[in-house]
Amino acid sequence: MNKIAVIGSGTMGNGIAHVFAQNGFNVSIIDISEDALKKALATIEKNLSRQVEKGTISSDVKTQTLANLSTTTFMKEGLKDVELVVEAATENLELKLKIFKDVDEATKPGTILASNTSSISITQIASVTKSPGHVIGMHFMNPVPVMKLVEIIRGYNTSNETTHAIMELSRKLGKIPVEVNDYPGFVANRILMPMINEAIYSVYEGVAGVTEIDTVMKLGMAHPMGPLQLADFIGLDVCLSILRVLHDGFGNPKYAPCPLLVNMVQAGHKGVKTSSGFYKYIAGSKDLVVSDQFRK
Ligand code: NAD
Repeated sequence: MNKIAVIGSGTMGNGIAHVFAQNGFNVSIIDISEDALKKALATIEKNLSRQVEKGTISSDVKTQTLANLSTTTFMKEGLKDVELVVEAATENLELKLKIFKDVDEATKPGTILASNTSSISITQIASVTKSPGHVIGMHFMNPVPVMKLVEIIRGYNTSNETTHAIMELSRKLGKIPVEVNDYPGFVANRILMPMINEAIYSVYEGVAGVTEIDTVMKLGMAHPMGPLQLADFIGLDVCLSILRVLHDGFGNPKYAPCPLLVNMVQAGHKGVKTSSGFYKYIAGSKDLVVSDQFRK
């Protein structure tokens, strides 16, 4: 495998393209937005420079990585001769179904089609293609160049060959792949989101304050970041939508999102991306300051 395409050049897409290009793959990045593509290249450049400064890669590797990347807003052009497509477009079911239908038609038979979705069913995505055996989940973690895990999700029809090829490829990228089956939330979010929801319920019910809850989990459970800070980092809107996928998918009330989470998202307090969630984020400051709503 030499040539691959990454669809979507946002937070995840640029990281995925970076990692493949750094490992010698020829990567075509496809996005509907010219602006997003420009930002993606600038981000990759900046992250590669940081790696050079830290001494983890040489400046030659940086130059070669950038040379391995190309960008386009024309999907057909970007998909020419690729053997693997990794889709990392916006988390929206209708959009992903449309992209997979188009990609299936524009690529040669045998091309592996992977999705980086956090919560959408791989089986459902595969159902719009002619060859569901070639469709698989490749769930990278944020930030992609740093995080070792890739959750590999087998859809109902994903073949053994496709799974083995993607497990092997992930190792070639220096990642550690873990194979899981396609059920709501897969493994990562099925376990993480109820913990985050429970932390939010603990604030909602007044069990303890924001700092206290995060401190218990950091110092008591050796988590590098408390669940409320992590929820802000992921995006409270993203947490809410994944909890809804779990709630709908299993029909079990234990996954019902906490009303406080729903309120915060409706009020536009979505975490780091809106500068306000459980904590407030002031440009240029690294201090973790609890939002006014949660101050005693
Ligand atoms: P993002 O909003 O940062 O980027 C999405 C990109 O997709 C945008 O640049 C947008 O222009 C582009 N896009 C939209 N429609 C498109 C189309 N038809 N063709 C090509 N490009 C299109 O989103 P993100 O956070 O990078 O998430 C992307 C995927 O990765 C989602 O499925 C998400 O669930 C998953 N994911 C996200 C994270 C995370 O922490 N952000 C972690 C793991 C997985």
